[in-house]
Amino acid sequence: MKLTLLGTGCPSIDYKRCGSSNLITTKKTNILVDCGSGVTQRLNESGNTSADIDALFLTHLHSDHVIDLYQLIISSWHSDRDSIWRIYGPKGTKKFVDQIFVAWKSERELRISYEKRKSKKALKYKVYEFHKTGSIAINDIKIKYFEVDHKPVKFAYGFSFFYKNKKLTISGDTRPCESLMQNARNSDVLLHEVFIEYEMNKTSKLRTKNTLHNVKEYHTPSNLVGKVAKLTNCKKLVLTHFVPTRFNALRLKKIVKQDFGKEPIIGEDLLTINI
Ligand SMILES: [Zn+2]
Ligand SMILES: [Zn+2]
Repeated sequence: MKLTLLGTGCPSIDYKRCGSSNLITTKKTNILVDCGSGVTQRLNESGNTSADIDALFLTHLHSDHVIDLYQLIISSWHSDRDSIWRIYGPKGTKKFVDQIFVAWKSERELRISYEKRKSKKALKYKVYEFHKTGSIAINDIKIKYFEVDHKPVKFAYGFSFFYKNKKLTISGDTRPCESLMQNARNSDVLLHEVFIEYEMNKTSKLRTKNTLHNVKEYHTPSNLVGKVAKLTNCKKLVLTHFVPTRFNALRLKKIVKQDFGKEPIIGEDLLTINI
């Protein structure tokens, strides 16, 4: 199983770190997790195409994780995709996707009638909404989804991917919580979000004190993410979803290592990890 980080950023714009997105692949299967800003460009850069995605999993409906959903689907149609989209997401995903399709209805219908492409299957989708926790199989990958704590976002999820005897866990956006720690236990790789609180003063002019406090509250700060990783007993910790997107990587590694006992991998867009 291979993990490709397509976007390691957050809502702030940084051409080096696109919006949140990750690709999990085996020889038979391509699963995309989230589709933040720039996902199709990064898929293209990594040698993949939206036409080949078997399933899209959404951690939650924050814009930095889903803003390019329509672009993803349209680009797959332009790439000759000949199968419908399977979209797995939290409660509200069906309504969300339906509304996007309504917004683009007349533009889409005009294109379909004028461009006369071979198939329209790529423009169809089926949405499966999550319960509290559950398991899904996509070809040779088994996925367990579980709720995480990103309140006030009501429905936010993390995922564990199982392939042969390997386990990859993706935290999604979350503050430290019991559910993530239990589900991430003994992962070969834990891909975890991080909020780098001590770097935030650099951008303080852009944010009020309340903003800083509230944003930090629903993420996992750098002085806790190593502790979380240690408690899960994961083999490798990969950090992503950096807030802010520019920071001193050596300092972050040092802080996290103090708690985790091992150096974390600082995620970069297009970094691939074999699991
Ligand atoms: Zn979020
Ligand atoms: Zn986010």
